[in-house]
Amino acid sequence: MDLVTVRTVRMPSHRADLSLAAGERPLAGGTWLFSEEQPDLTGLVDLTTLGWPDVEYSDDTLTIAATCTIASLLRLAPDPGWRAWPLVDRCANALLASFKVWNSATVGGNVAVGLPAGAMTALLVTLDATAVVWTADGGERRVPVSELVLGVRTLDLGDGDVIRAFEVPRRALTATTGYRRVSLSPHGRSGALVTARWSTDGFVLVVTAATPRPLVLRFGTVPSAETLDAALAGYDDWYDDPHGSPDWRRAVSTRFAHELRDEAAIDTDSVAGGAA
Ligand SMILES: Cc1cc2nc3c(=O)[nH]c(=O)nc-3n(C[C@H](O)[C@H](O)[C@H](O)COP(=O)(O)OP(=O)(O)OC[C@H]3O[C@@H](n4cnc5c(N)ncnc54)[C@H](O)[C@@H]3O)c2cc1C
Repeated sequence: MDLVTVRTVRMPSHRADLSLAAGERPLAGGTWLFSEEQPDLTGLVDLTTLGWPDVEYSDDTLTIAATCTIASLLRLAPDPGWRAWPLVDRCANALLASFKVWNSATVGGNVAVGLPAGAMTALLVTLDATAVVWTADGGERRVPVSELVLGVRTLDLGDGDVIRAFEVPRRALTATTGYRRVSLSPHGRSGALVTARWSTDGFVLVVTAATPRPLVLRFGTVPSAETLDAALAGYDDWYDDPHGSPDWRRAVSTRFAHELRDEAAIDTDSVAGGAA
């Protein structure tokens, strides 16, 4: 859609050009920005002209630029030991979007929109990623992605803050991941998306789409079914919108959580058995 209030589109090449004036907002892939009215928007600042490399590697971290498109992430050849990598494909397919949208939509844009069904948020939270935020005053801060998304369309970002990248620890990439998703119709938006990661470091369960913000449950080992039930029983903020009622979301998320727990229990038993 035409954004009729927009008067300027800036194309920064350095961080110094990035500072956002009142009424300006970052433009990434534009797939959400141009999909609905933006009444207060008077200017766009195109992040893609900053030339951030899609990914960078260090000994212990994979850094994914906020401007990396979902398509580019899917094309990345994982290291042989990255057992978690199938989760990238699954989360990309969890979006109610075709490959045409994948070619423009960015990882950072999906997180920044802050929708419950933000599958890149689910991916990054499951992989224990940290967001690198360039703050409006020229500084930088790091915040776990699990704490960056605070609620529906609400992020822990100040005015003028921009997400620069996501740092994914390599140790998370070598863990095993699991995934379950459901929607009310075959091509509907996710009603519940439950992901998990497990290794000898423990078991992490992440619920998105069914909750206004990511629900993250961490355990030192694969929990018993009773322990998992007790942890889920302590949570009472299930999302309510046309994509599912809170009761239904709680029920399917609980079932998926148990399925993933069972998968992890069998997996870790067989690892322990193999090592014995
Ligand atoms: C067909 C279709 C299906 C979709 N399905 C889903 C779905 O199933 N689940 C879901 O969650 N979403 C869905 N979306 C919306 C989706 O979140 C976005 O389209 C996409 O992920 C946004 O990425 P983008 O790069 O295009 O962001 P843009 O549209 O460019 O920007 C989105 C917002 O984030 C801000 N922003 C972008 N990058 C940054 C940054 N680095 N730092 C700070 N702010 C930033 C922008 O200012 C803007 O407010 C769908 C969209 C379409 C068109």
